[in-house]
Amino acid sequence: MIESKIKDTVRDVADFPKPGIIFKDITPILKDAALCAEITQALAERLSGVQVDVVAGIESRGFLFGMLLAQALKVPFVPIRKAGKLPFKTIQQACNLEYGSAILELHEDALEAGQKVLVHDDLLATGGTVVAASKLIQQLGAEVTAFSFIIGLDFLNGREKLEEFRPLTFSLASYR
Ligand code: IMP
Repeated sequence: MIESKIKDTVRDVADFPKPGIIFKDITPILKDAALCAEITQALAERLSGVQVDVVAGIESRGFLFGMLLAQALKVPFVPIRKAGKLPFKTIQQACNLEYGSAILELHEDALEAGQKVLVHDDLLATGGTVVAASKLIQQLGAEVTAFSFIIGLDFLNGREKLEEFRPLTFSLASYR
């Protein structure tokens, strides 16, 4: 089962990036090509019947499976990045994170009004990051249609913050 494979492969790193935080490190997954293919397929399967015109991946670990998923769905990929990384004209949105705060940016021509966008990230914690990403998408007149994650830290209740956007939300591996 994909959930147990992910949980067996992800590595817990204590005190990263700050003391007291146990960081879920997905890099061991990336070393397993067969598991990467399975994860991509599982993400795509969970989205069957959902209209996705574009996949938006969040810097930086959201780029990894976000791009693979976009290819599997045969749709465009757009990167949402931290401030100062995107080269063209951008729109900005501040977000509160599990540990600190940040500004996210999106190219102003990344999306067309009315497009249905799947937001992908490696991990859902408090939900602050994907809420900010969703606001960027809405600023361009596009619509968030689903959120996908490899890992959900469900005990942090990030899903509640996503309810205002009312799309499908799923994680392949959940920690309750
Ligand atoms: P949130 O905004 O609190 O939901 O935090 C999610 C963001 O922080 C995502 O972009 C994750 O990549 C990152 N993040 C938070 N905790 C972890 C972790 O334990 N492992 C990997 N990424 C994490």
